[in-house]
Amino acid sequence: MSSPRIISLLKGKCPKCETGDVFKTKGNLFLFQMPVMNETCPHCAHKFEREPGFFWGAMYVSYALAVAEMVSVFVAWSVLLPDAAYDYKIIVLFISVLVLLIFPNFRLSRIIWMYFFTKKEA
Ligand SMILES: [Zn+2]
Repeated sequence: MSSPRIISLLKGKCPKCETGDVFKTKGNLFLFQMPVMNETCPHCAHKFEREPGFFWGAMYVSYALAVAEMVSVFVAWSVLLPDAAYDYKIIVLFISVLVLLIFPNFRLSRIIWMYFFTKKEA
């Protein structure tokens, strides 16, 4: 019994076999280390970048994730601090959250993009 596809996606598993890891390293913002992706799945050898420029499309997903995060921050701000003014502090908070989530967004957007276009192996 395999886990649901959404769980494999969130765990960063290959879209084809849902076993191998897509990323070698998760990256570390504080050490300026970018996440490193495997070219092929270490389990089933599925090629992740199916054509040159394939991951350009992941930018749309990344944008959607960032908007969702900003809406979440805005709602949390409004609920937790109902009397606070909407001044520069919320902008600083938006930017801080975006910077902290750069690498999770980078990884998740590429993985979501691959899951759009890859069927699970039967
Ligand atoms: Zn695989």
